Amino acid sequence: MGNSIKLFSVKGIDIKVHITFPLILVWSAIQFGLLSRQGIKGAIFGVVVTLILFVIVVLHELGHSVAAQRYGVPVKEIVLLPIGGVAQLTRMPDKPIEEFVIAIAGPLVNFGLAIVLALVAIIAGFEIGLGGLTFSRLASASLQTVFAYVFISNLFLGLFNLIPAFPMDGGRVFRSLLATRIDYARATSIAVTVGQGIAWLMALWGLLGGGFFIIIIAVFILIGASQEGQLVQLKKLFDGLSVEQAFSRGVKSLTPDSTLREAVELTLSSFQSDFPVCEGDRLVGLLTQSGLIDALTRLTADTLVGSVMDKDLSPVEPKDGLFQVQQRLAELSLDALPVVDQGMFLGLITSRDLNEAYRLLSKKPDLLRGLA
Ligand code: ZN
Repeated sequence: MGNSIKLFSVKGIDIKVHITFPLILVWSAIQFGLLSRQGIKGAIFGVVVTLILFVIVVLHELGHSVAAQRYGVPVKEIVLLPIGGVAQLTRMPDKPIEEFVIAIAGPLVNFGLAIVLALVAIIAGFEIGLGGLTFSRLASASLQTVFAYVFISNLFLGLFNLIPAFPMDGGRVFRSLLATRIDYARATSIAVTVGQGIAWLMALWGLLGGGFFIIIIAVFILIGASQEGQLVQLKKLFDGLSVEQAFSRGVKSLTPDSTLREAVELTLSSFQSDFPVCEGDRLVGLLTQSGLIDALTRLTADTLVGSVMDKDLSPVEPKDGLFQVQQRLAELSLDALPVVDQGMFLGLITSRDLNEAYRLLSKKPDLLRGLA
């Protein structure tokens, strides 16, 4: 996610905070300090418990992440936003049961922590009930109130995330359970509809006094649900289709001895923005538009393409699935991948090719079946 700062990493997963994150600290300082009339002490307490809350959020997201990694789903990063955390999985697991486990792992971390805290409280004789949690008692900031706050937060986070508002955890659990009985795309569209319904109710509640945060969360659910709905729609439309049905033939290519100036001329005089670099009909590199721009800011226009091109190629083959290629482009943040058959360069599959295919197929799903 753009605009985030890396804090540290766990199990190869970067833990990052979004630049808007300090807003929540300011908000809690105001909430605990000013609004509850507890002054500086209350403000400091607010900041401290909010930071603790986000440690809990990180543990929750790590729960999802570790489960995902167990199923071979790479996790890019965990980003902390003012409204909570997001573990960015590079893809969704294929089997419903795997999604079920990954989705429930986060809330289970919270419930597990709550149980441990409750046991400690019983042994230490702490009061951890809701009754003890008024603002004034909280701001008295004893170890016991901090403890009670952390306990309640864990319970709340676990339960809140289980609300079946897709793509929240509870919504994912709901979809995965549906998907064990009905078609994945249909399960998703039901989960999306239910999630959006709940999101509208949450937004209404927020407007009627439930607070600003509820409205923001509702908006996130609405956006998230429609994005995931589209992704599943895409997967269904691209199902059974392969690269050879959509890739661009006859693309212009460069050689390692071409200059950056030639690449610029080619960019401006064609539809293309990414260029394969070939020696004869053998692919040796790729010069993407961002690679070209990056090279031009550092080097002269007479620099040879061979010295700046991307050699770490991940070419696709004509028989590769369209959806998998779409996922790969998204994972690599690329606009084009070279298509190669037995070492011979054939063309490029670009995000524009995929968009065109998507637009056509969404009007006529069986358009490309039996073609190519
Ligand atoms: Zn979660």
